[in-house]
Amino acid sequence: MIYLDHAATEPMKECALDALMQASRELYGNASASYGIARAAKSALESARRSLAGYLHADPSGVFFTSGGTESDNQALVAAAEGAGKGHLIVSSIEHEAVLRTAGYLETRGFTVTYLPVDPSGFVSPEDLERDLQEHRDTVLVSVMAANNEVGTIEPVQELSSIAHRHGALFHTDAVQAFGKLDLDVSRDGIDLLSVSAHKIGGPKGTGLLYIRPGISIGALLRGGMQERGRRAGTEAVPAIVSFAAAAKETFREREESNAKMRTLQRHLFEGLKSLHAHVTGPAPGEKRLSNNVSVSFPGIFSDLVLASLDLQGIAASAGSACTTGAVNPSHVILAMTGDEELARGSLRFTLGPENTMEEMDTVLSALKTILCRATCTGK
Ligand code: PLP
Repeated sequence: MIYLDHAATEPMKECALDALMQASRELYGNASASYGIARAAKSALESARRSLAGYLHADPSGVFFTSGGTESDNQALVAAAEGAGKGHLIVSSIEHEAVLRTAGYLETRGFTVTYLPVDPSGFVSPEDLERDLQEHRDTVLVSVMAANNEVGTIEPVQELSSIAHRHGALFHTDAVQAFGKLDLDVSRDGIDLLSVSAHKIGGPKGTGLLYIRPGISIGALLRGGMQERGRRAGTEAVPAIVSFAAAAKETFREREESNAKMRTLQRHLFEGLKSLHAHVTGPAPGEKRLSNNVSVSFPGIFSDLVLASLDLQGIAASAGSACTTGAVNPSHVILAMTGDEELARGSLRFTLGPENTMEEMDTVLSALKTILCRATCTGK
């Protein structure tokens, strides 16, 4: 099998699997209890918090463990909005559904939301943000992702956060795809709230974190026990969190090398796809695009047909579109970037991992050549 869907999830790293098994066996105590095995679990939990905070250049007291990116995004938006009581939020139009649907929910609760447009490469314009903040004098929160999950666009979060702060708004970034690939620094980048998910870096599914800048008053989404200092009730998933920290340690140790390797594969795949007349979606490969993202569109050819044929040949990739009840919806990201429904319906996303090889890229290109030839010959 050739796995090219790392943005959806990564295979678990061996070190993360080992850490998960070991912590499940040895650290089964409830971290809130006071006897020895519980204290050991608590100590492992705090050590994971410290090391994960380090990768964000954050104070460990700002790290709160959650069930993943979706929960972190929900908490950032809902708790910030509810804390203010009323007001306005700004999110980019290419956010993940975890942000977009939460913003939609907040609209039903009386908040107003601006969905910021993006340019054809997927970049949010700082001028648009400034203008919208000037028009609305009651913006509570601005949420713009650090890097997009479909097209890999790296947003100018440092510039956007400073504009948000000038207007008295909090700044949240969904760093689910950026964590482990980009250098994120919550102080330098002016980030108040930041979401991370463990399974995107070879950690376990169902674990993540929300960074909340110390001093900011953000409430809980889940109420119950006083775990995570009252900001996230529920017994802490210590083995999964320890495994998350193990995955992060390896990811950051190998980050430069992995990025360089993936950039070489990315360039090769892009060149090959261009020779198959693919329309490249997102920014040109380089500093403003994630190293592992290759997204293209074949206008007039539905992505589900291509993906099904690739799957038959053991190649796992994805569309930039969500498949609901059998119908493929055009990608909201490509639509926001280009307004072109045909491009949005034909969009394909290949997301690489450091274990992929050049030979695999060539196999994918030759499989695609055959599939596209067949599709155009049969008029599909
Ligand atoms: N945000 C982004 C940008 C994502 O890519 C994803 C997952 O695809 C999520 C949020 C949701 O993360 P999780 O699967 O941990 O809930």
